[in-house]
Amino acid sequence: MLIDDYEIELETPACDLESPIYAAKVRLKADVSDVLPYVNATVDKAEFIPGIPVLVWREEGHRYALRSNEIAISTLDDRRHAEKVTRSIVDRINAIWEDRENMKPSYDSWEKPKVLDILRQLPGTNCRECGVPTCMAFAAKLAEGKQYLEDCPFINEEERADKLASLQDMGL
Ligand code: SF4
Repeated sequence: MLIDDYEIELETPACDLESPIYAAKVRLKADVSDVLPYVNATVDKAEFIPGIPVLVWREEGHRYALRSNEIAISTLDDRRHAEKVTRSIVDRINAIWEDRENMKPSYDSWEKPKVLDILRQLPGTNCRECGVPTCMAFAAKLAEGKQYLEDCPFINEEERADKLASLQDMGL
């Protein structure tokens, strides 16, 4: 088994303490660098940088960043949810590793969306509630993977559903 031990660290977001959304850093005891190209072969729109290495993709409402000794997972309700989502991705990575001889590894990388294309889908009010001074700065951080869509409290508003869908189509 590739991953048989890990620790979950929950990070509290600063944006909405009334209904917080958490992110988790899952610290792995094993070095999982060799499995990244195989995981890359199974996911859509993944950004893969072999030199770091890091594989980033979005799936079922979560953003995953898989590194040699860590999995970062966004959009978690609480520790229990974090444990469930972590167990699921760890089991999947272990299964992929066991099956690697039947798979073709992928070193392809999805191209990140442009900051201006992201900006066009944001509210544009520069209200700062996401923790940065402008929507442009937030768009830049989204493109770099340093913030998540959930950090803007207005993105999920019903009338913005089309724009949210566009942002998700960009793999954010
Ligand atoms: S919270 Fe949303 S609307 Fe406000 S500045 Fe950040 S991205 Fe723009």
